Amino acid sequence: MKYYNNILETIGNTPLIKLNKVTSNIPALVLAKVETFNPGNSIKDRMAVKMIDDAEASGKIKAGGTIIECTSGNTGMGLALVACVRGYKCIFTTSDKQSKEKIDLLKALGAEVIVCPTNVEPTDPRSYYSVAEKLSKEINNSFWCNQYDNLSNAQAHYESTGPEIWDQTDGKITHLIVGVGTGGTISGTARYLKEKNPNIKIWGIDTYGSVFKKYHETGIFDEKEIYPYITEGIGEDILPKNVDFSIIDLFEKVSDKDAAIAARRLAREEGILLGYSAGSALAGLNQLSEKLTKDDVVVLIFHDHGSRYIGKIYNDDWMRERGFLDSEIKVKDLILAKKDKAFYSVEANEKIRNVLKIMKERDISQLPVLENDDIIGTVSENSILSFILENPLNNADKEVKQIMSDPMPKVSMDLPMSLLNKCFTEKIPGVITKDQNNQYHVLTKYDVIRAL
Ligand code: PMP
Repeated sequence: MKYYNNILETIGNTPLIKLNKVTSNIPALVLAKVETFNPGNSIKDRMAVKMIDDAEASGKIKAGGTIIECTSGNTGMGLALVACVRGYKCIFTTSDKQSKEKIDLLKALGAEVIVCPTNVEPTDPRSYYSVAEKLSKEINNSFWCNQYDNLSNAQAHYESTGPEIWDQTDGKITHLIVGVGTGGTISGTARYLKEKNPNIKIWGIDTYGSVFKKYHETGIFDEKEIYPYITEGIGEDILPKNVDFSIIDLFEKVSDKDAAIAARRLAREEGILLGYSAGSALAGLNQLSEKLTKDDVVVLIFHDHGSRYIGKIYNDDWMRERGFLDSEIKVKDLILAKKDKAFYSVEANEKIRNVLKIMKERDISQLPVLENDDIIGTVSENSILSFILENPLNNADKEVKQIMSDPMPKVSMDLPMSLLNKCFTEKIPGVITKDQNNQYHVLTKYDVIRAL
């Protein structure tokens, strides 16, 4: 018979999978260490067991004790598995930017979860670090894992992730690309690989809003680098002891948008449903592709599973609200939504009274003014009415070109709606666009509101 004695024995030995379509522009062989195959669906299972193994060995936790940790979910999941199998209680503190799915998963495994505010200093008593520390002092026989500074974290990857990657690539790996949070994954894996071959390049992926890259390049911990971001699992506002800056060759920052789009590509083009930071790693690889050659063997570590982000990066509305979708509503979509698609215009020598009549009949508030088929200006209902009011007696023969304002700005049919507002002015709240049949269309602020 072949079986495991408990779920913890299934941790590790995850597959290395070649990426194909999403790396078609990269000259190197790109392999993904897909850590979703761990029982908790993330790489953090590896270090969770190691932290508890080491705590048990040194007597820091005893039977029936309570595991405490600040975790964005994945470490919590690994620790919850250990707690179930070994009979511990679990209390996790997490930040309010984490997916609800992640928090519910921890609760499903019997853990207690305390949600703390994200946008407070780590030293603030409300932060998830401070709350975890306080609980660990108050609760007897409790062990605060402190994955940031507990070196069992990196050691787990030195003992498992590193050797697996070395063996799976037959020692041919040339580059390791890893998102950096606590730093455990990159530092432990890199230490093993560099011991085997010091020429292997170690590239850390960071987020905008995190201190790592600047600190690595300048030695300066710059608080100005810190601001809220959306990517989950990587980037920090502290320097965890598990980040071994000396072993990392470079840091690359990836934006929230690029990471989200890259994660969606991994799902749709490779069939691998992964978390946000996997997108960061892939986008980082793309940003660094010029440094690679056809002889390189690149390993990306993908930390966690996409099921935890279904309400976020895999949800079109969530993506759209943040302006992350390239399929954002465009001018052409708004034109399609217009009920009356005809293009109305007036000649420059048209009498303004006639123009007012046309506007009333067609329920139009502004019109392009044409001369020899060129659009030379715009006339609006407001400007006509003002003119008639100011010149009540001698307006009958006046031509529209005498009161017209500048032409409406011309925009492309592909202009995203989010940029359209910049084109509208108070005087001319409309734009002109031309479709593939060379047919003009006017799009006013009012059309946009009606379409929405
Ligand atoms: N991605 C995800 C989704 C994570 O949960 C983590 C852990 N914070 C990381 C990347 C970074 O891993 P590490 O903490 O080992 O640097």
